Amino acid sequence: ELYNKVLELKGNIRVFCRCRPFNSEEITSGATTAVEFEGAKDGELTVKSNGISKKTFKFDAVFSPEADQVEVFEETAPLAISVLDGYNVCIFAYGQTGSGKTFTMEGTNEARGVNYRTLENLFNIIEERKNTFKYEVSVSVLEVYNEQIRDLLVSSGSSQTTKRLEIKQVVGEGGGHHVPGLVEAQVNNVNEVWEVLRTGSNGRVVESTNANEHSSRSHCMHCVMVKGENLVNGECTKSKLWLVDLAGSERIARTEVQGERLKETQNINRSLSALGDVISSLATKSPHIPFRNSKLTHLLQDSLGGDSKTLMFVQISPNENDLTESLCSLNFASRVR
Ligand code: ADP
Ligand code: MG
Repeated sequence: ELYNKVLELKGNIRVFCRCRPFNSEEITSGATTAVEFEGAKDGELTVKSNGISKKTFKFDAVFSPEADQVEVFEETAPLAISVLDGYNVCIFAYGQTGSGKTFTMEGTNEARGVNYRTLENLFNIIEERKNTFKYEVSVSVLEVYNEQIRDLLVSSGSSQTTKRLEIKQVVGEGGGHHVPGLVEAQVNNVNEVWEVLRTGSNGRVVESTNANEHSSRSHCMHCVMVKGENLVNGECTKSKLWLVDLAGSERIARTEVQGERLKETQNINRSLSALGDVISSLATKSPHIPFRNSKLTHLLQDSLGGDSKTLMFVQISPNENDLTESLCSLNFASRVR
């Protein structure tokens, strides 16, 4: 069955929609829900306003607020096999701040998310395959903030933190892109990866005065690089797994912000719409794919399209008060599908 799922994913862009549960404040204040899940098994989700106007969206999977991390992960598990088979994979979480992007990707210690589970799965398969394959795994953790790339594995205070990182085209070796100077931490098991990811998260927090606000305004990106060698025939593979917690997609009225904040907002809008443009150009097989329009898409250039696999989680809130943003996210997701 897993094998069939892998085939299904081949060369595909998939979109999963996940709705977070109401939080305690919303329950206390008696918030109303704007989302219906009757068709969830068929990948359908219906959004209603004032209980009257309704719109139904269709996705590859829909997860209602009751869906737990295990259920969500079961649908993403085949992607670890793809990475070890030599495919590049990107997994994103898109949505407004507070819609559950970080919960889905990172999760909590009690309810670990896609990042940890995918990596755990990756190392389990490496162990299963150890008689026929040899793998080397390394990890980079970076952040794109205001169209600047920052290495989160470089300890704060070191002169490296202020160094501007740029994206360079790789000549030879099958091409692709590379960020010279970016730390690549070699890892041998899931605990080591977990430690590296933690260092990355800490690096992110330390640098900002308001951690939550900062994380909602930057893209947090993990890149897992895998080199494989088939011990039977000597064939080698090189692949990447990107795990991306995107900046909040909420629209901020231009009149509300000025100066630095306006620039920040414009950069977020620009990179998220660039991502939408790239994925929808790929989906419609357009001859020109506008990768260079943002740092985010430029970084991901060799992992989007071709025979790589893309999975986007569109995160939404159930709250009717968030309906405008939810509709924006759902429309964005329909466009890339
Ligand atoms: P975002 O990263 O999109 O800003 P978060 O992942 O931080 O949003 O989620 C906001 C809050 O909602 C967090 O406290 C998170 O733990 C909680 N939350 C989100 N999704 C779920 C879920 N599916 N189940 C339980 N709690 C969730
Ligand atoms: Mg977050």
